[in-house]
Amino acid sequence: MLGRLARYLRAAGYDTELAAGGAPDRDLVRQAAEEGRYFLTCDRLILEHRAGNGLVCFLPHGHLDKLARQVGERFGIDWLARAFTRCLMDNTPLVPTQSHHHPDLPPDLAGRDIMRCPACQRVYWDGSHSRRMRARLEEWQRSLGP
Ligand SMILES: [Zn+2]
Repeated sequence: MLGRLARYLRAAGYDTELAAGGAPDRDLVRQAAEEGRYFLTCDRLILEHRAGNGLVCFLPHGHLDKLARQVGERFGIDWLARAFTRCLMDNTPLVPTQSHHHPDLPPDLAGRDIMRCPACQRVYWDGSHSRRMRARLEEWQRSLGP
């Protein structure tokens, strides 16, 4: 459930790791502490780990919009300031590129802003998918109020 939220946090430019299934909670909490991350979870048991003091943010199971509102208020998220600067799949900061470096892209992208992930080589541009995500980020930003 938090996987989608993680993708949207990355879409907003926030450094967001998604824990692999199966790792012991204790190790995940310790890793978050070492990397200076907050730890978002739907698992109440994680609150009991001492290392998670102040790091763990418990989220109830719920709809993505509801989770986003909670995280936005708790951490003062700006959903738009750095939107689409990070790879949605692996969290790597994107670098600008140009369409002529990617001959397999649709030709109508010439001259448009295109970003490339240096880790997985995925290419991002302002297509219908990112427009849907951006619309959602804008809605969340509006709901944070002035
Ligand atoms: Zn990537």
